[in-house]
This record gives sequence, structure tokens and C-alpha cells, in this order.
Amino acid sequence: MSFFEIFDPAFGKFILGNAPVKQIATGFDWVEGPVWFGDLNCLLFSDIPNNRIMRWVPGFGVSVFREPSNFSNGHTRDRQGRLVSCEHGGRRVTRTEYDGSTTIIADSYQGKRLNSPNDVIVASDGAIWFSDPHYGIATDYEGHRSEQELPCNVYRVDPSGAISAVLTDFNCPNGLAFSPDEKKLYVADTGRMHGSDPQHIRVFNVGENWRLSGGDVFHTISPGCADGMRLDSDGNLWSSAADGVHCIAPDGHLMGKILVPETVSNLCFGSRGKHKLFMTATTSVYAISLNRSGAL
Ligand code: MG
Repeated sequence: MSFFEIFDPAFGKFILGNAPVKQIATGFDWVEGPVWFGDLNCLLFSDIPNNRIMRWVPGFGVSVFREPSNFSNGHTRDRQGRLVSCEHGGRRVTRTEYDGSTTIIADSYQGKRLNSPNDVIVASDGAIWFSDPHYGIATDYEGHRSEQELPCNVYRVDPSGAISAVLTDFNCPNGLAFSPDEKKLYVADTGRMHGSDPQHIRVFNVGENWRLSGGDVFHTISPGCADGMRLDSDGNLWSSAADGVHCIAPDGHLMGKILVPETVSNLCFGSRGKHKLFMTATTSVYAISLNRSGAL
């Protein structure tokens, strides 16, 4: 069985012919938000409907890291290495401090509660950017069903703690990622859950003082959607899809696919040299070694 589909010959150099797509953990309901801790040699990820964050350690397997997790979804690490998490249940973004306590980064905008923060990234200036679609308050499955008070925006929390809505013309913003030089910001619009709304990735130019411009459609994932995205160190974008992970060149063309037997939600690079791609996919987590390195 082949683990790859190659559309651009250059993709053939990104993969290792004998490296398998390997299931490293299974038995969950819907996993997302993988984040690698090289210093602790572990991967954290969310098992959202079961309201817990799991920890996978190579050679040891899986244990519960945090339960309940306030239905956490996406995670990242800030520039000091601390865990930053989106919580559907808490309708907030939090940071886990070195002593284990949590600090609220954002839970409201202009006096109204956030919807259900979904995915989060941290820029080199320490600002925290996150998407806030309504998925986690639409049902009780991945959070608490409740009233939507704000449109589905993308927010930036600057290092002083001030929050601003930086993208306000999305249906449902979801995965987001900077290019390695932070000159481009990629944001997925994954539409309403049962509608035929946008399922594409848009690209924005990042200008002076982090001002965004542009916003054209960069690529449309098919099948599936860009629930989660990461860049490699050369600026190629790796996106979740219904049939695995798609690798998209900086000019927007599909270079190749990693085929995964379950629908992929999110991904991250990790392990030695950040050459391993960890993929959360419905009930399982998969990993594959690549001839690529992830960007920070
Ligand atoms: Mg997501």
C-alpha cells in the first residue's frame, strides 16, 4: 500500500519511501490540537468530546494530561515554551504557567463572550492569534450549547493583553498559520457544519505593525477542509484533509498527499529535527517521518 500521492515531482523529495504512516494512539472520539514538547519528549492533543487532553510519550504510550479540559481544542506553545490552549467549554484562550496554574488570555471582546476558540498561534513578538468559530457552542458534543454573542472572527491579543478583531469577514475561521518569515498569514474558512459554505484557505499579507491586507483564496482543500495547517521551513503549507494531509506550495498548487485512513483534523511537526509530522485523525493519532523540517 502506498502512503503517498505525488502531483509535483518535487514532493518526491519531501517524503521517505520506506517511512510508514503509523498509528501511534487510538480509541478516542475526535482528536485535535497536537503540540510537540521536545523538552519533555511528548505530544499533547485534545480528545474534545471526552473533555480531556492526552499525552503521548514515545515508547510509553498514552495517558491523560488534563481532565476535564474545558473541551479544549487547538494548542500551541508561546515563545517561552508555555502551553497555550483554546477552550470551547470555557469560551476562552488560556496559558498554562510553569507551576501548572492557568491564566486567561482572552474570554471576551467588547463586553461579549467569545464563541469557542478553535485554533491558536503565537507570533515572534509574543502576540497570540486565534480563530473563534461557533462550533463549540452549537451543540453539547464538543462544549456547551449556548448563545452566540459575537461573529466568527480572528483575534489578536498583543503582548500588552489588548485584544483586537483582525479578520471579520469569515464564515467560520478555523486553522491558521504564519509563513516562516511571518510575511504571510494563512487562515482557513471551514463554513457552517452542515452547509455548503466556503471550504478554502485564504492568504493575507502581513505588513507593518502586523496589519493585514489581501485575503485572496489561496487554495481549496478537497476532499475535506483545512481544519489545521502548519508550514515547513521552506514555506510549503501542510493542511488537514478528509483523505489525509495535503502539501501545498507557496504558489498555491497541490504538490502531494499523505494518505491517512481516517479524516485528519490537525497536524504538527515534532520529534528530532522537527522532521516528524503528527496527525490527529478522528479516533486516532498518526505519525510519519518526512525529509522536511517544520517551521517554528
Ligand atoms: Mg480546528
